[in-house]
Amino acid sequence: MNMLSDLQDTIAAIATPPGIGAIGVIRLSGADAIAIADKIFKGRKLSGQPTHTVHFGHILSPGNGAIVDEVVVTLFRGPKSYTGEDVVEISGHGSPFILQKIMEAATEAGARPAKAGEYTQRAFLNGKMDLAQAEAVADLIAADSQAQQQAALQQLRGGFSGDLARLRDQLINFAALIELELDFSDEDVEFADREQFRDLISHLKSQISGLLNSFRLGNVIKNGVSVAIIGKPNAGKSTLLNVLLNEERAIVSEIAGTTRDTIEETLNIQGVLFRLIDTAGIRQHTTDRIESIGIERSRQNAEKASLILHLVDVTDPDTSVIEWLEPFVDKTITVWNKTDREESHSSAISDQRSAIAISAKKNIGIEALKHRMYELVIGDTIKTENSIVTNARHYDALLKMMDSLEAIDAGMSAGLTGDLLSIDIRRALHYLGEITGQVEVDRDILGTIFGKFCIGK
Ligand code: GDP
Repeated sequence: MNMLSDLQDTIAAIATPPGIGAIGVIRLSGADAIAIADKIFKGRKLSGQPTHTVHFGHILSPGNGAIVDEVVVTLFRGPKSYTGEDVVEISGHGSPFILQKIMEAATEAGARPAKAGEYTQRAFLNGKMDLAQAEAVADLIAADSQAQQQAALQQLRGGFSGDLARLRDQLINFAALIELELDFSDEDVEFADREQFRDLISHLKSQISGLLNSFRLGNVIKNGVSVAIIGKPNAGKSTLLNVLLNEERAIVSEIAGTTRDTIEETLNIQGVLFRLIDTAGIRQHTTDRIESIGIERSRQNAEKASLILHLVDVTDPDTSVIEWLEPFVDKTITVWNKTDREESHSSAISDQRSAIAISAKKNIGIEALKHRMYELVIGDTIKTENSIVTNARHYDALLKMMDSLEAIDAGMSAGLTGDLLSIDIRRALHYLGEITGQVEVDRDILGTIFGKFCIGK
């Protein structure tokens, strides 16, 4: 793909979702956006108008001059626009037919239909946002829970990028000092205080490990928490499933790019998506209790799930299940059901950290159960202001960055010289740069050297 000639094109696309709406928007972006709009817009001449202004008029077909629609046009002159280029947004009536006609008019006048993600790609190439932010735009558009939206918004606002930029600055500073030693290698000087550097590396390591840990949560936010309800026949699994779903049945949607065997029932607890797996098994099982769900299938579900609700009938406790659930104890909540039939123990049960007493049939303790589910998975992490890594590419780069930091650490313990250390430092910087899309490390290092030390003044 020839990126440069691509960038010279002025692109056009319908920016609003397909279907009928009160308003539909066509967005033009590129050097000729305003000139192209002028060719099809009858109203004020747009090329004479200041940026961030709105104009009423008509779109005319360039072919026969017929009126296509009555519209409002919004003008953004670069660089103060989403893409950083001149942008014209044409708001017409939201009929797919009319919008298509406006698109045809725009392309006849010289615009090219935009490719997927091309506006955001241009915003990145024009320095309006970094790669992590561009990826957040995609996440935001795909968000279907509040937690997803929050994580994406935080990333879009640059919280995560800000963290990375700070890490990067610290490392570049040090790289500059180490590289400076290379220029004076004959004189056996150490500009870079090794003790200070060790502190810096351990500080960086703890920050990176915080980000790496947040990925578990990020993953939860992005993909939801898989939940298996396990219990012997008659424990009340389908009753519990119904009471959970009846209250807060979430909208089930297929998220592009994720593969799921089946569409699962989902539950939204405080903005986090919980996916109840194998609900068909539980449901189907009500007609064919004993046979349809074997212990093997339950075990597989338990293994796959991030969270297990082990449902036990207080009037008929079983130990057979408990044994094989043992390895999963950290992700299991023992739910004692049917406490309406045996009140006496329920408060004692609910005091235990990993157990809770409910009555699925009478809808008692369900709120507390949901709270427990949320706490077990999310804990305090989501309440912090810290950045949450939701993107596998970022996670991967951070892992490699961590490796490089370990190597630097080991290198210093072994008393490596600056030139060898600098290889690992560059590697760490490279992976950091991969996340935000800025890997021109050399120029930065030189810039810092010259900026700070005025060599060759
Ligand atoms: P499953 O086999 O685990 O799916 O269990 P079901 O949900 O089909 O429930 C089995 C029986 O227990 C049904 O008759 C339910 O009405 C009853 N049951 C479920 N939860 C409760 C409860 O909290 N209290 C009482 N008393 N009965 C319950």
